[in-house]
Amino acid sequence: MKKVLIATTNPGKIREFQDLLTNRDLELITPRDLKIEIEVVEDGSTYAQNAARKALAYAAESGLITLADDSGLEVEVLDGAPGIHSARFSSLPGATDADRRAALLQALEGKPAPWKARFHATIAIAFPDGRLVFAEGECDGEIIAMERGSNGFGYDPIFFIPEMNKTMAELSREEKNQISHRARAAKSAMAWL
Ligand code: IMP
Repeated sequence: MKKVLIATTNPGKIREFQDLLTNRDLELITPRDLKIEIEVVEDGSTYAQNAARKALAYAAESGLITLADDSGLEVEVLDGAPGIHSARFSSLPGATDADRRAALLQALEGKPAPWKARFHATIAIAFPDGRLVFAEGECDGEIIAMERGSNGFGYDPIFFIPEMNKTMAELSREEKNQISHRARAAKSAMAWL
């Protein structure tokens, strides 16, 4: 079995990777399993830079093949914001996912709808021999003002997918894992693993 560390403390991401990277040759490990607690400053200017920083930092700490994802929500009418800043979009101290959704809806107030948007995920995998590889995935939709659904995490309740007639938070775990940005990136990442 090949051990792969999933370099995130976000429980939503961990759950999704556990469903997405199912292969009997892989054993997925979390930072918590190894009692690794490190703070990685995500100040890169691209998803790839931030994903690489996380993957390399956790790989150095663990000595394991390490997979990190940097993801975000890009809203067309906001010129692609919050993008790589999605996790820090609310200025409130200790902001929650709900605070970030509220901050986004506030930024969209008065802007012409539909608010076309897309989720982006870049995965970086750091190997102990120093190799670093990347995989990307995207998912198109639009932001709606009223929250719908309680599955998923982050911006899911306000991210509507017209083809499914559901928000990301109304999709079952299986449905989200067929079409999400992270699912698409994970599918190409599997080839490297
Ligand atoms: P980071 O990759 O840790 O910088 O954080 C990405 C941020 O983007 C998360 O905290 C969420 O706010 C948002 N995000 C990324 N992927 C998803 C998703 O699948 N659903 C909802 N929000 C997401």
